[in-house]
Amino acid sequence: MPTPKRITVAGNPEFKTRRDLPCRNYDPDLWYSDAPTEQQKAARICQRCPAQRDCLLFALDHDLCFGIWGGHTPAERKAIVEERNRRTLRPHVVLPDPPARAAQPWKWPGARRAVDVGRVLDAARRVLDGELMRTVEAATGLHNAVLGEGVAVLRWAPDLEDDVRDGWIPMKTAARHGRQVRDAYTAAGAHPNGDAAKVAA
Ligand code: SF4
Repeated sequence: MPTPKRITVAGNPEFKTRRDLPCRNYDPDLWYSDAPTEQQKAARICQRCPAQRDCLLFALDHDLCFGIWGGHTPAERKAIVEERNRRTLRPHVVLPDPPARAAQPWKWPGARRAVDVGRVLDAARRVLDGELMRTVEAATGLHNAVLGEGVAVLRWAPDLEDDVRDGWIPMKTAARHGRQVRDAYTAAGAHPNGDAAKVAA
C-alpha cells in the first residue's frame, strides 16, 4: 500500500497493515506519478500483490481519484464504476426480433386511428380508470382491445409505429411484439429507461 503523499485517505483499510505488500519496497511517488510509464510500472507491481482486490475495492468504494490502486489508474477505475452502474441500472435484456414488414402495405384505417387514439389514451389512462376506456370506445367506435393494441405498440414497440400506421405491419403483430418486449423487460426486472422501479404491467 503506498503511503499517500498528495491526498488524505479516509478510513484505515485493514490490508494496508500487511507486511507483504509489494509497494512497501518502492518509492510511494511511483503510485502517484503523472507519467504513463511510471503508472504502468506501478500497475505491474500491483499485479503480484496479495491484497490487490481489496486495494481496488477500497479505491472504488471511497471514490479515490488519484494514484494507482489495485493495479488500476483513475481512468480505469472510473470505467469500472461506470460499467458497474450501467449493469446495475440496465440488466442485460434479450429482446425478441421485430416482426418483418409485409411485401405490400395493407390498408386498415383503424390502425392509424388506434395508434393516434392510443397515444392520447396511453397518457390519460395513467391517471383515469377504466371508465375512460369505455368513453373513448364509445366516442371513436374503436373496441377497447384495439385501443389496447395501440397502447402496446406506442409504449413497448415505438419503432414499429410508422410501419403500423402505413400498413406495413398489422397492428396485432406489432402489439404482440410489444408485449413480448414488455415481458422481456419485466422478467429482467428492468425498464427501457433504466429505471427498474418503472416496470409497467
Ligand atoms: S495493489 Fe498495489 S497499491 Fe494496492 S497494496 Fe498492493 S501493491 Fe500496494
